[in-house]
Amino acid sequence: MITVQPYPLPSSGDGLELGKPRAITYLRVSVTDRCNLRCGYCMPEDQSFFPRDALLSYDEIAEVARVLVARGVRKIRLTGGEPLLRRDLPTLVTKLKALPDAPEVVMTTNGMLLGEHARALREAGLDRLNVSLDTLRAERFRQLARRDGLQRTLDGLAAAKNVGFERTKLNTVVMGGVNDDEIADLLAYSLAQGFEQRFIEFMPMKSNDYGVAAQRIPLDEIRRRIETVGKLVPRARGSGPADTFTLESTGQRVGIIAAISLPFCETCNRVRMTAEGVLRSCLFEGGEVAIRDRIRAGDLERVVDEALEFVRRVKPPVHEGMGHVDMNRVGG
Ligand code: SAM
Ligand code: SF4
Repeated sequence: MITVQPYPLPSSGDGLELGKPRAITYLRVSVTDRCNLRCGYCMPEDQSFFPRDALLSYDEIAEVARVLVARGVRKIRLTGGEPLLRRDLPTLVTKLKALPDAPEVVMTTNGMLLGEHARALREAGLDRLNVSLDTLRAERFRQLARRDGLQRTLDGLAAAKNVGFERTKLNTVVMGGVNDDEIADLLAYSLAQGFEQRFIEFMPMKSNDYGVAAQRIPLDEIRRRIETVGKLVPRARGSGPADTFTLESTGQRVGIIAAISLPFCETCNRVRMTAEGVLRSCLFEGGEVAIRDRIRAGDLERVVDEALEFVRRVKPPVHEGMGHVDMNRVGG
């Protein structure tokens, strides 16, 4: 893992392996590392967080996004931590949607606060939602997330639907011996609600002690379990991480994201920005550039350009299958 400040950025002359620059069209922004849950695969109970003044302001995020959109980014995902813990998030959505060449703006959330914020997010122009839900059982939810919250999440999903969000995706991390007995129930719930269900392979990360507590169910096995519900017809793979299928019986879509069994590094078109203003090439490895302080020194356009050029060249040809950073910091 290479961590660097913006100046001087290392180059191939410094013995660094720099790949061909990638086209980057997708930016994932962690707007906060804080969360109202403590999912065991994501962060420990006693996680420490950045002080609030370390975080980029909404104006700073929008300015970085403006430069990246001008360089080809077409889609921005807000994530975290729990993005809805950041005060008045719709203001940021409004700023991002007002950028020249308005990018698509989407969000990944645990859904707990959607009941309160769905309408304002919709009015601000948020395009779509991914909501994480690993179980439909209240007690299991409490064990997995170390907090109560199933009913609030379901209410949040209902609120999102009521205010008009469409094509909402439901993200479930599949863990052997933990929630893999709910694949059929979660799929049935999503199909009934009109959501697109996506099953995500568990990723070993520093934040979950590299998977000591959960068994990873690989792609083929997840698919086999879904097929006990109905036959899947594969769809063409896009540039994203999901293998998508159509459920033959209903015509609805189902996705499997298997970043470990089936890395999509070759076609990866994304960069990440952490809440404290670090631009990263990859969830797992590659390199990262701290840009906040240089931005605050008034050199935004040049810093973002140089950092983008760097991270798009240090993207790994294929990742090593585990992450050494905190998931909530980098933004899952
Ligand atoms: N708090 C929001 C949420 O839970 O949707 C956004 C941030 S969370 C880090 C983003 C996504 O990363 C969630 O869908 C979560 O399930 C997923 N995630 C976190 N740790 C993971 C792991 N070790 N393996 C697979 N997915 C993980
Ligand atoms: Fe919070 Fe999302 Fe991590 Fe769960 S996965 S602890 S909801 S940031």
